Amino acid sequence: MNCWHCNQSAQAVCRFCGRSVCKDHVQTMNYIVSVYPSESKQVLKSLVVADAVFCGVCKPQPEPLETPYLD
Ligand SMILES: [Zn+2]
Ligand SMILES: [Zn+2]
Repeated sequence: MNCWHCNQSAQAVCRFCGRSVCKDHVQTMNYIVSVYPSESKQVLKSLVVADAVFCGVCKPQPEPLETPYLD
């Protein structure tokens, strides 16, 4: 698979969208694995992977979106 940006051999795959990127074009961003209420229930805690591979093209949202329940 080749880099989305320059068509060179890809070194990594975006954690968010799956695009491939080479060393020159790889970027990093925090990746939220899961969100859960803290003991106090006042705030939410997030389990985050720092510096996850990011392609620089897609647009991960900073917060998980509320998804309507479809029935
Ligand atoms: Zn590239
Ligand atoms: Zn991406």
